[in-house]
Amino acid sequence: MTFKALRIDKTAEGTKAAIVDFDEAALMPGNVTVRVTHSTVNYKDGLAITGKSPVVRVSPMIGGIDFAGVVEISEDPEFQPGDAVVLNGWGLGETHFGGYAEKARVKGEWLIKLPEGLSAHDAMAIGTAGYTAMLSVIALEHYGVAPVQGPAIVTGAAGGVGSFALMLLKKAGWHLIASTGRVAEADYLKGLGADEIIDRAELSAPGKPLGKERWIAGVDSVGSHTLVNLVAQTSRGGAIAACGLAQGLDFPGSVAPFILRGVALLGVDSVYCPKARRIEAWTRLARDLDHEKLKSAITDIAFDQVIETAHAIIEGKVRGRVVVTIG
Ligand code: NDP
Repeated sequence: MTFKALRIDKTAEGTKAAIVDFDEAALMPGNVTVRVTHSTVNYKDGLAITGKSPVVRVSPMIGGIDFAGVVEISEDPEFQPGDAVVLNGWGLGETHFGGYAEKARVKGEWLIKLPEGLSAHDAMAIGTAGYTAMLSVIALEHYGVAPVQGPAIVTGAAGGVGSFALMLLKKAGWHLIASTGRVAEADYLKGLGADEIIDRAELSAPGKPLGKERWIAGVDSVGSHTLVNLVAQTSRGGAIAACGLAQGLDFPGSVAPFILRGVALLGVDSVYCPKARRIEAWTRLARDLDHEKLKSAITDIAFDQVIETAHAIIEGKVRGRVVVTIG
């Protein structure tokens, strides 16, 4: 038996990606087999498919860091055939065959049952980007910053994580500043919840260790100088949730905001996030997301468009979220 899968091979000439017929017998071990119906294209999928960063740890690999689908066979008592499920992270598309395939065999403990009110298409419109934005918002809430204290900033605002962070923070009542390189997208960002738009160039170059206090909270998907400047311009007692590296993996900053203003930097890792926090995030997403706003952020593509879309996301040409219909 074979099924369609996007195989990534790391070769001496570089990374190669192609949709192939994959032998079911070659699937990796797991106790639940899922018929994948939808996946998505995240920045990290772009890095994996283009080979720009060493996301893929095992070659050959089936790409796709998340999927939604229906359980076909289960040896895990928590799941029955027919259950609608979603999976993000846990090394999918990195060390374990991922979501760009008509079939996936995974560990039951990695799966989350889709909450009431979310379809497989919704789940992948949200995908790792929306789930990571939710984890970032939950991190800020657990830390204890609140909209009454001042505005919040979202960087990489027109990207996947950024778009969701705007929607979710707006729902929680924040006054929002969106930092973007695409100021022409102001109407789109305002539609998602932004109250003010700033050009990302304001934050992307080296700045002072401490700046004017401009926001009390933030979600940063950019890293590098942007994150350093975000922290340097956070008001006393505020917090920034750091979840991305679109500008860079470095953090070329000073400890001044931490020790002179008590600013907190909250790390967000979606990949190995414990199951209880995942269930909290997916339940909140089902409850809090405005489905009309979500629709405005989605582009639907077919399975055979994944590779070109992966290149486009790395070139910064993809706005919002991409949903892939797999089977
Ligand atoms: P997208 O490509 O959709 O969004 C990234 C956004 O960052 C772009 O849209 C752009 O926003 C901005 N950006 C891109 N390049 C630069 C640059 N050189 N300088 C400043 N800003 C830039 O990606 P995602 O939203 O899917 O992911 C965002 C980041 O979060 C990635 O680094 C990803 O690896 C990371 N991530 C981390 C996770 C975790 O577990 N911690 C999980 C998911 C994602 P604009 O056009 O508005 O300027």
